[in-house]
Amino acid sequence: MTDDLRPNEQAIDAGPASDAALRFIGTIHTPWTRREDCPRQGRMDGPECRIVIAPAWRAALDGLEEYDCIEVLYWLDRSRRDLVRQSPRSDGKTVGTFALRSPVRPNPIGTSMVRLLRIEEGTLHVRGLDCLDGTPLIDIKPDRCDFTPKAPPKPGDGQTQTED
Ligand code: SAM
Repeated sequence: MTDDLRPNEQAIDAGPASDAALRFIGTIHTPWTRREDCPRQGRMDGPECRIVIAPAWRAALDGLEEYDCIEVLYWLDRSRRDLVRQSPRSDGKTVGTFALRSPVRPNPIGTSMVRLLRIEEGTLHVRGLDCLDGTPLIDIKPDRCDFTPKAPPKPGDGQTQTED
């Protein structure tokens, strides 16, 4: 798999990319070292993977063990970032980048819902990932369906469509 353009794909001159505003908080370890071997989307019965949290952020895991499913956000660090139209099937038919879950995007953030198997000394053991070994970790959140906000309710929480 290369970063070459496929027929009718369109890149722009987006200037040099900067990751300045993010901090990576750990590293994801998976069985996959080549993009072509990675699944397109992870599955909850996929191989066990490890998410190693940087020591400074391990206290942030407190309470996460209550959840069976968690959302993982990661930085698809080996992606090109300048395509506005892509040809997923390499057949010359293109679709806009924002209509795809392709790793090729201006800010290559990947997300997966994963099954949390256990947490051991700052390492999360999970199933459901689809990223390369060594992918940087951006964030972890509890599954929003299982999560009940810990903070007091706010007026907007129950807001529905307003009448004009
Ligand atoms: N589940 C995420 C999402 O929907 O946001 C990512 C989906 S993306 C289609 C998964 C693909 O990204 C993999 O099959 C692999 O080809 C590619 N990929 C995985 N890790 C990557 C990395 N660190 N850098 C660049 N590409 C990566």
